[in-house]
Amino acid sequence: MQETLVVLGGGAAGMSAASRARRLRPDLRVVVIEATKMVSHAPCGIPYFVEGLFDDENLFMTYTPSFFERERKIEMIMNTSAKEVNLDSRTVRLDSGKILEYDWLVISLGAIPKTPQNVNTDRVFYVHHPAHALELRKQLWSLNKIAIIGGGILGVEMAEALSSVGKKTILIHRGKYVLNKMFDEDLGNVATELIKKNVELHLNEETEEIGNGYVKTDKGKYQVDGVVLALGVLPNVAMFKGKLEIGETGALKTNSTMETSMKGVYAAGDIAETTHVVSGKPVWMPFAPVANKMGFVAGSNIGGKATIFPGTVGNMITKYGDMYMGKVGLSEIEAKQAGYNPVSATIKAKTRARYYPGAKDIYVKLIADEKSKKILGGQIIGGEEVLGRLDVISLALMKGTNIEEMFFAEMGYLPAISQVWDPITVAARQLLKA
Ligand SMILES: Cc1cc2nc3c(=O)[nH]c(=O)nc-3n(C[C@H](O)[C@H](O)[C@H](O)COP(=O)(O)OP(=O)(O)OC[C@H]3O[C@@H](n4cnc5c(N)ncnc54)[C@H](O)[C@@H]3O)c2cc1C
Repeated sequence: MQETLVVLGGGAAGMSAASRARRLRPDLRVVVIEATKMVSHAPCGIPYFVEGLFDDENLFMTYTPSFFERERKIEMIMNTSAKEVNLDSRTVRLDSGKILEYDWLVISLGAIPKTPQNVNTDRVFYVHHPAHALELRKQLWSLNKIAIIGGGILGVEMAEALSSVGKKTILIHRGKYVLNKMFDEDLGNVATELIKKNVELHLNEETEEIGNGYVKTDKGKYQVDGVVLALGVLPNVAMFKGKLEIGETGALKTNSTMETSMKGVYAAGDIAETTHVVSGKPVWMPFAPVANKMGFVAGSNIGGKATIFPGTVGNMITKYGDMYMGKVGLSEIEAKQAGYNPVSATIKAKTRARYYPGAKDIYVKLIADEKSKKILGGQIIGGEEVLGRLDVISLALMKGTNIEEMFFAEMGYLPAISQVWDPITVAARQLLKA
């Protein structure tokens, strides 16, 4: 009899899993359940859509549902939510009442935004799913003064988007500097100074109440037309509480094949916990490349090709104006929490040779363990070539590179885009002295 794979959620992870399993096992029936009209979508583009950089909402999707139906022979059940999973009878109940049987299950329901207490208005907006981006943009563009609550990646990206389209933007953040989950204080302060330039920034402020036309914090009350909530996200695990093991991060516990505590049931993407390659500890890393690869691994194993997900090093990046800001591995704070004795070097350099026009500033921080000399992480803010350098450190972390190896890593040189002593090499050199 033909076996069936049911995939819950058609985002990055779900469609990677479905496509990979289909490719490896043409005999498998593959069915995807997706709550919205969009699949293989990229929520990452929503701030740029709000900024008006593109208008066609279909561009959020890498492939359309009909492409998957036609080219990959995957059954797409769209605009339909999975309501309940029965792990004993191996069935999924849909909101239409229909019951689907499965032999294999991939859970890829993503994350949900954190919601605050004390919201007494409907003028609050979440930036979450591309299927709602058009309506979100319409609403936000109709307002003049907007508060963003939360100074993480999403808050910063929305601050750029809204100020770029001429909105008076207030960013309210409880931390003492923005991006405080990404950066230690030194680079966090650099990021904060950048954002302050065209956004009214309120740091160290706890939001107490959001009402019609205002936000009240422990330090003041601000008149605004609407509020964007960017407080972070949580794994969307409600349907599986008491059914599958939930890890210490709050996401579904998985082994290295992406299988959950139930045989034949896999989890991938923002709903799944994995291991941090550097600390070896459980971690939740809700980012798109991680989601895609987790889905690929789940689909490979279901398709009969044994594949291991090695864990994550947490390579993350954002931008504000013409500056790119990113981190990979552990911050100094996280390194201490993980039991290391971190040493660090922070340097400021230029991105091009001194004679080549247009050089931008770049800050590089490298963190290493004092005892083992292993590189633990890196943080970079700069006007260009930030992602490439983060990716170099990313691979170094995957390979357990030490300071000396990092110093000798051969970085290419072209005056138009680098310096002969690359900023990473310079930072590693400082660590060698530490
Ligand atoms: C605004 C924004 C910007 C981002 N920017 C970046 C970035 O620049 N770089 C980066 O790496 N990451 C970024 N991310 C994170 C990235 O989008 C996620 O890590 C990635 O989308 C996770 O993929 P996923 O498949 O696990 O979940 P999702 O992409 O969220 O897909 C889950 C799917 O499940 C569906 N679903 C939920 N419940 C049900 C149900 N009961 N039944 C059926 N379907 C259901 C949802 O509709 C959704 O389509 C951003 C996220 C947001 C929101």
